[in-house]
Amino acid sequence: MTANLEDTIRILHYCLLVGGTLFIVGLENRYPLTETSDLKSRMNHGLSNLGLWLITVLCVDIGLQAYLTQLPTLVHFSERGFLSGLGLPTVWLIVLSLLILDFVSYIVHSLMHKLPWLWIFHSVHHSDPSLDISTSFRFHPVEALIGLLWVTTLVIAMGMPLWIAPLRALVILPLSLMHHANIAIPDSIERMLRLVLVSPALHKIHHSPRQSETDSNYGLFLSIWDRMFGTLCQVGASDGPRYGLDFLGEKKWQSVWGMLRTPWSAQFKRAQA
Ligand SMILES: [Zn+2]
Repeated sequence: MTANLEDTIRILHYCLLVGGTLFIVGLENRYPLTETSDLKSRMNHGLSNLGLWLITVLCVDIGLQAYLTQLPTLVHFSERGFLSGLGLPTVWLIVLSLLILDFVSYIVHSLMHKLPWLWIFHSVHHSDPSLDISTSFRFHPVEALIGLLWVTTLVIAMGMPLWIAPLRALVILPLSLMHHANIAIPDSIERMLRLVLVSPALHKIHHSPRQSETDSNYGLFLSIWDRMFGTLCQVGASDGPRYGLDFLGEKKWQSVWGMLRTPWSAQFKRAQA
């Protein structure tokens, strides 16, 4: 039953991923936020990010297969977790679980920036000098495996239903695709979104090479955590949006091989404030 529900949510996730990506590519062509480079450069940029994504998906899939072989044991522990003992109605269990996962993702993301051994992997996502929809797919395999590990551990330890992890991925997908999309969003919509959510403009400030801006807006879905902990940055530098990391600006760090070896081969430096 649980496995069937998880499979259904995963299929929905992939359909939304493909449909949403194609839709956003259309919007990027029609309403670009920043001036785009020529088609060949954009294709190379997109193909590199997608190439890394394919390797990352393969690694995560191997990790998932290992997880699925332990499913009966994981269900056993999950059924003894704190939340499952409360006997909450399903809808409240879902809301509470999603809130906890969103809060912990804020903490984990801020640790990715603060702990050097995590930053070397997360920097691959930040080293993209031109944000577009393909940046949503740019994650080092080790970062993705760390993500799989903390989500799985938290779900089981807290006694959340095991299908909550794919459900969360489905819920946050539209916003996370929009976070990196090169689309001009009207100010009125942007202002409304950021009251509750980490809007696309807020997340783009997080992709700035300026240290004070990179170290802000850690939330992935709700903006309340950044408001609560004083890490919200609502206005970027006045000289306009700039993305990437200066110390990973060379072309060699933008290929699939370059991104894969970044954690071990790059010289890591703090950026300018
Ligand atoms: Zn980050």
